[in-house]
Amino acid sequence: MNSRIKLEQRYCAQNYLPLPVVLVRGEGVHLWDDEGNKYLDMMSAYSAVSHGHANPRLVKVVQEQAAQLNIVSRAYYTDKLGPFLERVCELTGMDVALPMNTGAEAVETALKAARKWAYEVKGVAPDAAEIIACSGNFHGRTIAVIAFSSEAQYKHGFGPYPAGFRLAEFGNLQSLEELITPNTAAFLVEPIQGEGGIIIPPDGYLKACEELCRKHNVLLIADEVQTGLGRTGKLLACEHENVKPDGLILGKALGGGILPVSMFLARHDVMSVFTPGDHGSTFGGNPLAAAVGLEALNILVEDDLPACSAAMGDYMLNGLHQIDSPLIKRIGGIGLFVGVEIDPALGTAREVCERLMQVGILSKETHDTVVRLAPPLTITRSEIDWALERITAVLSEMDEVRLAS
Ligand SMILES: *Cc1c(COP(=O)(O)O)cnc(C)c1O
Repeated sequence: MNSRIKLEQRYCAQNYLPLPVVLVRGEGVHLWDDEGNKYLDMMSAYSAVSHGHANPRLVKVVQEQAAQLNIVSRAYYTDKLGPFLERVCELTGMDVALPMNTGAEAVETALKAARKWAYEVKGVAPDAAEIIACSGNFHGRTIAVIAFSSEAQYKHGFGPYPAGFRLAEFGNLQSLEELITPNTAAFLVEPIQGEGGIIIPPDGYLKACEELCRKHNVLLIADEVQTGLGRTGKLLACEHENVKPDGLILGKALGGGILPVSMFLARHDVMSVFTPGDHGSTFGGNPLAAAVGLEALNILVEDDLPACSAAMGDYMLNGLHQIDSPLIKRIGGIGLFVGVEIDPALGTAREVCERLMQVGILSKETHDTVVRLAPPLTITRSEIDWALERITAVLSEMDEVRLAS
């Protein structure tokens, strides 16, 4: 086995099962391994690399800002944080932002905001606030977040869990309505479930959730850590249904595929529950992250990456639908956010990913059965054609092997 894989396996906790490839370089939609093999990245680090690897404009900003000022903590003001947050608020229609680093931290921030808002604004009795999330959700890996996961493996062995969470069935409005009580602070939802297998809810679901939340004075909090910033063909996935959430969570692509940058955004009346000392992060909002985040947003707008995602996503979906393979059980997706579900009776998503790797495509299975196809939003038509050819070949190869055995 490759000695670098051995070394990483020896010293790194075994909390992932990586594909057996050692990456040493990335540029645009491509990655290279330590033997010089080139791959098309259809994974984009779980949608964190929407701008392409080592985007030259972002690399330039990193180099300039790194030489100027990096970490000072929020004990001081900087020249970079204000412009970054102004831009992200302008683009998303939110009033205020609280910068963090990872998605899970921004989700925690949203949960804390919702609870405090329930007590101080809505008038819920102390410690009685409830937050409703959805079955099949993914919001990160902290103790509070896994407390409302419906995935047994994410929870097993990590109890006891914090209380105050309920699970509605994703895509089912009535199930949400039944769980709302006078103590409900917020409904936390991914507009399209990512880690759950790229699951798109029925048309009108999110809009109806918004109306229901308004009616009961419940905050609608959209976790767009993965769906946000162009991934689904709009700047925010909420825009597909003209939904304006009360709180919004961004992460992943916000750091331009270079740094961890996340945030919770909200209206003034929600965010104002935070006062100095309530909540914070040593690294959140640091000038290096803010400079990269601002440039990432500028590129997104100037290159119209959401429109690229919509056009190339349609093109890729169309091509996938033309593949005639019994292994494909379902193709789901919107923009460059696509999942191909493999019939578990005929093969595993893992095997598809391993075979794709051998022909130069990097992807990753989610939930054992779904092959994720979510390249950087900068991918071109000819690169998609190249990928479709190989995906078709891999699936027919697997079918031949299956029929021969
Ligand atoms: C990835 C993800 C998170 C967690 O982000 P981390 O940066 O891994 O903590 C939260 N919510 C959604 C929807 C995600 O896809």
